[in-house]
Amino acid sequence: SARNHGESEFLQAVAEVAESIIPYIEAQPKYKDSKILERIVEPERVVIFRVPWLDDKGQVQVNRGFRVQMNSSIGPYKGGLRFHPTVTLSVLKFLAFEQVFKNSLTGLPMGGGKGGSDFDPKGKSDNEIMKFCQSFMTELYRHVGDDIDIPAGDIGVGKREIGYLFGQYKRITGTFNGVLTGKAFEWGGSLIRPEATGYGLIYFVEEMLKVREDSLLGKRVLISGSGNVAQFAAEKCIEKGAKVLTMSDSEGFIYDPVGIDQEKLEYIKDLKDNQRGRIKEYAQRYSCEFFPGEKPWGIKCDIALPNATQNELNLSDAETLIQNGCICVAEGANMPCTPEAVAAFHEAKVLYAPGKAANAGGVAVSGLEMSQNSQRYSWGRTKVDNKLKEIMSDIHHICMKHGHEKDGHINYEKGANIGGFVKVAEAMLSQGIV
Ligand code: NDP
Repeated sequence: SARNHGESEFLQAVAEVAESIIPYIEAQPKYKDSKILERIVEPERVVIFRVPWLDDKGQVQVNRGFRVQMNSSIGPYKGGLRFHPTVTLSVLKFLAFEQVFKNSLTGLPMGGGKGGSDFDPKGKSDNEIMKFCQSFMTELYRHVGDDIDIPAGDIGVGKREIGYLFGQYKRITGTFNGVLTGKAFEWGGSLIRPEATGYGLIYFVEEMLKVREDSLLGKRVLISGSGNVAQFAAEKCIEKGAKVLTMSDSEGFIYDPVGIDQEKLEYIKDLKDNQRGRIKEYAQRYSCEFFPGEKPWGIKCDIALPNATQNELNLSDAETLIQNGCICVAEGANMPCTPEAVAAFHEAKVLYAPGKAANAGGVAVSGLEMSQNSQRYSWGRTKVDNKLKEIMSDIHHICMKHGHEKDGHINYEKGANIGGFVKVAEAMLSQGIV
C-alpha cells in the first residue's frame, strides 16, 4: 500500500498472513466490522533514533536505532534486537509483525515488537561493541521496561551484547529487573534460553514427522547459518541420530559428507562465538569442501532447515530440494523462504513449517525467563526443557487444528496464521477501538 511504500519485506510478510487470514475474517463479521486486520498491520508505535559512538581511532560513528512496538493486546511488547547492516524499518516491521503471531502461538502473555540497528558488529573490537551498545541503550531505556517492552537477541545480538545493554540500562535507571531476556544465567538468564530456538525447531520437526510415523533417525539434514539458531538445531539433530551435512555463513557453506558430529560442532561454536571466525575454516580443519558464495540447498537431503536470514531460499532452490526428495522444510530463521518457494512446497506436499511456528521456542523460553525474573527464582534445566517441548507440541497441535486440509495435507502456514491471529484478535475486540 501507499502508506508502506517501498517496505518490501513488510509487505511480503503481511501478504503471506493476509492470504490465510482474509478468508477466515470474511466468515467472521465481528473481525471484519471492527477492522481488526487494518489495525493489526499498523504498529502501535515506532521509535527511530540516532546512535552516535566513538570508535577505537577516536572517530565519531553514527548509526540509526529502531524499536517497533507492534501490538500489546495480549502482553507487553516482546521481540529481539538485530544489529546488521541490512536492517531497515521495513525489515524490523516485518519481524515485529511476525512476532505478534508467534508470541500468541506460544500461549504466553507477550505482545509483539522488534528493534535493532544498521550497525555492523563484524570486525569491531569488544570496546567498540560496548560503546555502541551503551549509546543504543542511552536512548532505548526510556521506551522499554519489564512491564512495557522486553527486548532480546537476534542476528548480531548475543550474550555479549545483551550484557552491555543490560549494564547500561541498570546504570541509567538504577534498577535490576527483567527488562531484557537472553541474559547470562549468572545474572538472571534462564537455562536452555541459548538452546531454545534450535532445540524447539527440532522438537517441532519431530512432531511433524510423528504424524507420518517417521522420525529423525538417519535423516540427512541441511542447515544454513552457523549462529545461535543453527548451532543448537544441529546439536539436537545430532542427538536424535540425524546426519547434519552442511552449515554456512554469509561467505558460503561447508559440506561434510560424513556428517558434523558433536565434537566438530563444539569447534564451530568456539569458532563463531569466541574467535569470531568464518565457517570456511571448518573446511580446512576437517578436509571437506567449502562452496564460496553459495547456499547449501543443492545437496541431496531429507530435511532442510534454513536458519540464517530472510529470503535465503528461493523458487529454484525449492525446486532442487523437491527434485532431490526432500520431505520437510522447517524455518529456524524468520521468513527465509520466498513466497514462490513456499508455494512450491505446498504444491509438492512437502511438510513445510513457517518460522512463526517452528522457531517460536526462543521467545517461548524468553517468556519463561520473564516468569522466573518476576518470581526472583530460577528453574532447573529439565523443567525449562520440558516446558519448551510442551509448548512446541501445543503449537504443532494448533497448526494441525487450523491447517488440516480436505486431502489430509497439513498446511502449517495457514494453521499458524489463523491460530496466532485468533487470540490477538479476540483481545483487540475486548479492549475496544484502541
Ligand atoms: P546469529 O547472528 O547468531 O547468526 C546468524 C547466522 O546467519 C550467521 O551464520 C550469519 O553469517 C548468517 N547470516 C546473517 N545474515 C546473513 C545474510 N544476509 N546472508 C547470509 N547469511 C547471513 O543469529 P541467529 O542465529 O540468532 O538468527 C538467525 C535467524 O533466526 C534470524 O532470521 C533470526 O531472526 C531467527 N530467529 C532467531 C531467534 C533467536 O532466539 N536467536 C529466535 C527466532 C528466530 P555471518 O556470521 O557471516 O553474518
